[in-house]
Amino acid sequence: MNVGARFAMMRTRMKKPTAEYETVILGAGLAGLSAALHLERDYIVVEQGAAVGGLAQTDVVDGFYFDRTGHWLHLRDPGIKAMVDEFIGHRLVNVVRKSKIFSHGVYTHYPFQANTYGLPPKVVEECLLGFITAPARTAPARGLKRLRDPKNFEEFIFFHFGEGIARHFMIPYNTKLWGVPPREITSEWCSRFVPRPTIDEVVRGALGLSREQIGYNATYLYPKDAGIDVLPQALAVRVSPLRLSTSAVAIDLARRQVTLSSGETLAYRHLISTLPLPALVAMSRPVTATIRTLAKKLRHTSVMFANFGVRGRAPIDSQWIYYPETRFPFYRAGIPTNAVAALAPPGHYSLYVEVSHRGELVADKVLPALRAAVVDAGLVCDARDIVVERMCNIPCAYVIFDDNYFRGVRTILPWLARQGVLSTGRYGKWTYCSMEDAMMMGREAAADVRRGARGRRARKK
Ligand SMILES: Cc1cc2nc3c(=O)[nH]c(=O)nc-3n(C[C@H](O)[C@H](O)[C@H](O)COP(=O)(O)OP(=O)(O)OC[C@H]3O[C@@H](n4cnc5c(N)ncnc54)[C@H](O)[C@@H]3O)c2cc1C
Repeated sequence: MNVGARFAMMRTRMKKPTAEYETVILGAGLAGLSAALHLERDYIVVEQGAAVGGLAQTDVVDGFYFDRTGHWLHLRDPGIKAMVDEFIGHRLVNVVRKSKIFSHGVYTHYPFQANTYGLPPKVVEECLLGFITAPARTAPARGLKRLRDPKNFEEFIFFHFGEGIARHFMIPYNTKLWGVPPREITSEWCSRFVPRPTIDEVVRGALGLSREQIGYNATYLYPKDAGIDVLPQALAVRVSPLRLSTSAVAIDLARRQVTLSSGETLAYRHLISTLPLPALVAMSRPVTATIRTLAKKLRHTSVMFANFGVRGRAPIDSQWIYYPETRFPFYRAGIPTNAVAALAPPGHYSLYVEVSHRGELVADKVLPALRAAVVDAGLVCDARDIVVERMCNIPCAYVIFDDNYFRGVRTILPWLARQGVLSTGRYGKWTYCSMEDAMMMGREAAADVRRGARGRRARKK
């Protein structure tokens, strides 16, 4: 049966909702849980997985705590800080970042652009001279007040960092991470996440004289005795009703009803959805042709990662390492036990490596290559020390900020809002964001719902 016919059948069934709620929240990741906590009442949360947390889940295998790759908590918003503190403050430790880049056969400190010391002299020279002569610095000297804003990420890289840093790190690393060349990505997403050091920092970093950590993640919080899912688990204790192992399968925007995999239909006044935006549009009816076309053009990258539990001491003390060179299949590796030793049984360490992809990757075929590559990279001394190994996939990991991105998102989100659907969270807003951002988005969606309710009450009076 085609999608249209299936939807027509569901719509007939949808006539009598099983239950009614002021707000139905789809997804019990951090955004959905935060929305529920900030709403306090008149809601239900529906989650397709068997556990809460979404991407912020932890899988425990033979005493190893594996997050869905590194999930370090950076908090800057006072309200979210207070909420996290109330729920799990006593379980958190503050960790100082230890992060490196491996290229040209040596480790350098993160971020690459401010720490070229240790690289071959020719590479340092190219990076330094490129940075000094980059348009971002030469334009003011040439009396130009403002140059045209870089129109894509590649231009952003050359504009701010210059030729050497572009060639030796930024372009190859970002191509590996995003699965598309940086020229296909707009520059708007990166202003917060790509550290832009001053010339002093770059020069000191080339001479090995860096004094302080730079970037938004110089320190972070993490549970001292378990994985990151301590956070969603704690939030979920106060979220009720919460339905696990139940998916939303169809949404009737006109009747404001959502059909669940259990066959029930829930009527709502507001729908807060944290589902990936294209999936939300695909399951909603009626939707205009423009919205459907724009949603289909939204692109993303998947991430497949391997977890290894390894006997012995980690040979490197970094918590995560970037690999710009193509000779390594992964773009990043992490050793979470270098942040919190309790994430592995005594005498062991844990490791993950991440591979981004935009097509089909078969886990069983990729694992042997990754096992060999972690030995080649010196992350594991001897493959026989690996006591646990597993592969996982994040089907929708990084959204691609290409030319279709802004038009799509800026048209679809307001259109959905006019239908009573607040699409939020990292994938609902179709953006790049942290766990804290996801919780802030959930809070914002709850505030929008409350504003709507207040407006209705005022109109009735
Ligand atoms: C590789 C990687 C590393 C990251 N590292 C960090 C980090 O170090 N620090 C940091 O702060 N952030 C990190 N993030 C970002 C962070 O994971 C997210 O911002 C945050 O977890 C998103 O929460 P969310 O609730 O918006 O989305 P999600 O966690 O995706 O939650 C959405 C929920 O909706 C559910 N769902 C989907 N479809 C349906 C359906 N049809 N019906 C019902 N439920 C459904 C899903 O099962 C899921 O539980 C990382 C992200 C990635 C991809």
